Amino acid sequence: MATRKKPAKKKSRKPAKRGKMVPRKVIVAKKIPARAGSAAGTNPQRVAAILAKLDEAYPNATCELKHENAFQLLISTILSAQCTDVRVNQVTQELYKKYAKPEAFAYANPAELEKEIRPTGFFRNKTKAVMGASKAIVEKFGGQVPRTMEELLTLPGVARKTANVVLGTAYGIASGIVVDTHVIRLSQRLDLTRNEDPKKIEQDLMAVIPRNKWIQFSHQLIWHGRRVCAARKPRCAECNLETLCYAKDKTV
Ligand code: SF4
Repeated sequence: MATRKKPAKKKSRKPAKRGKMVPRKVIVAKKIPARAGSAAGTNPQRVAAILAKLDEAYPNATCELKHENAFQLLISTILSAQCTDVRVNQVTQELYKKYAKPEAFAYANPAELEKEIRPTGFFRNKTKAVMGASKAIVEKFGGQVPRTMEELLTLPGVARKTANVVLGTAYGIASGIVVDTHVIRLSQRLDLTRNEDPKKIEQDLMAVIPRNKWIQFSHQLIWHGRRVCAARKPRCAECNLETLCYAKDKTV
């Protein structure tokens, strides 16, 4: 009996095995630590929670430099560089009686003015800035403090911080966010920025804080910095932002 040939095995179309099967690796999403990326610190819910806590603690925060008009606020802000608001207020109490208008500062006796503002520190540079800014206001802006960032930045001794103080507090114009030493420290501690440069910090904050909060937000951070979140020993046990704060130098 003739034997039937076994049909040849069909070649498998499966790709040849290249070695032992390894079970597919299960990738478990890592929990993103709060400081792992800018989004962790600045997601809208977290920012809204910070703003709500600041509103709760400082509903009436405002500028602590005493002033009666935009011009006085400008001069006080120039004098407040590297000086406390309390000291500036002591000096300006008499100063604004003697120098009642921009013209008085613009054409003042520099040696006399230096003596009068000496307690605020850096009095030579501040005298130049105060007189230069006043002269420009009188001669270029008809005696009125300008209302735009661009124009304010043309005044001697005026950078973005001073311009933002004047625009926000005196005119209610939100052109940017005041970034002073307190705002730098707190926005870093609260992980709203990873930058050191004030201009970049301002950009970071402007990107995450709603514009209608810009003016109040900087007043509130400054108040919090002065009252609770001090540079050396922050009083974290008394801080209503504690659960939202990732600062490495927290004291609780
Ligand atoms: S918890 Fe401490 S470090 Fe953080 S914001 Fe409050 S006071 Fe400042």
